[in-house]
Amino acid sequence: MKVTNDQGHELDARFVLEPTTAGLDLVITARGGGLNSDYEKGVAILISRLAQWRVVLDGVSVDSSVARKLPTEERRLAVQNFSFPLELVAVTDIRSLRLGIRSATVAFGQREGAIGGNPTKRLRLHLDWPAARDVRLNVLEAALGGPANASGGDKPELAEARVAAATKELRTRVAQDRPIVCPSGGPGGVRTWGVAVYYPRKDDVIAWVLHTAGGRCEVCGDAAPFLKNDGEPYLEVHHVRHLADGGPDQTDNAVAACPNCHRRLHFSADREVLRSALLVRVPRLVDYPKAPIIELPTV
Ligand SMILES: [Zn+2]
Ligand SMILES: [Zn+2]
Repeated sequence: MKVTNDQGHELDARFVLEPTTAGLDLVITARGGGLNSDYEKGVAILISRLAQWRVVLDGVSVDSSVARKLPTEERRLAVQNFSFPLELVAVTDIRSLRLGIRSATVAFGQREGAIGGNPTKRLRLHLDWPAARDVRLNVLEAALGGPANASGGDKPELAEARVAAATKELRTRVAQDRPIVCPSGGPGGVRTWGVAVYYPRKDDVIAWVLHTAGGRCEVCGDAAPFLKNDGEPYLEVHHVRHLADGGPDQTDNAVAACPNCHRRLHFSADREVLRSALLVRVPRLVDYPKAPIIELPTV
C-alpha cells in the first residue's frame, strides 16, 4: 500500500500491516534501488495518522536482512527522549519522535557495520490498536495510507472503530482525573459524495422472510415494535452468515429481527451464542461457512 498525503498526492512510500501474536505491526518498506524515494515523508505521515487514531506505539524494530539474524529484542530501537509503550496522541512533538527514530536507525546501521548507517531501513512499528481488532486489514491500511475521508478510506466499520477509540480516550481521561472537554461539533447539513461499498440484496428474499415471520421477531419472538407508515410491521432482515463474510442472499440464511435483536446479533458480546441459538430455533436456516467475496465492477 502506498501513502497518499493529505493533499491527495500519492507518495513513493510503501507500507503494509501485519498481524502478529502480540498485535499488529506496521511494516515500512526500506528505501533503495530507486524505490520508496519518499520514505521520510511516508514515515512522518504514518506516525501522525497513527496518533490521530490514538494508537499506542509499543516499540520500533529494524527489519533489515541483517537485523533479522539478531534476537527480536536486539532489533528494537532505543529512541532518545521517548519510552515505549508510547501514547502517540499525547506526543506534542511528533517531529522529534520521527527524528529520534531516524537517528536510532542510523546508530543501529553503524552497529551493523553498514556503510554510513543507512537511515531508511525497513522498519516495524509495533502497534497497540484495540479499536482495530474487528476491522479488516485492507480497511485499516486504507485508513492509514489515504487522506481522511478519501473514497474507500471511511467505511462504516472504520467510523465505528474511531468512535470506539474516542470513547476509550474519554474513559482513560476520567480514570486519570483529567478534564473532559465537551466537543464543539460542527455544522449539520454537510453532504459529501463518494464511493460506498455495499452488498446488493434480493427484494423477493426480503419480502419472503418478512412475510413468513408474520410480524414477529424470529430471534426473541416478540411482536414488531411498531407499524410503518404503510401499516406493515417494522422488522429488519439479517443474514445469519453475513453477506460481507460471503453468506448467500437466500431464505435459508436470512431471518426477520426486531431492531434490538438485529443490533445485538451484530454488536453484542454474546453474538456468537445468539447466532448458534438462532440456527437451532429457526429450522429453515443453514449454517453456511465463510466464503470469499465476489467483487462486482463499480457502477
Ligand atoms: Zn427481537
Ligand atoms: Zn444484519
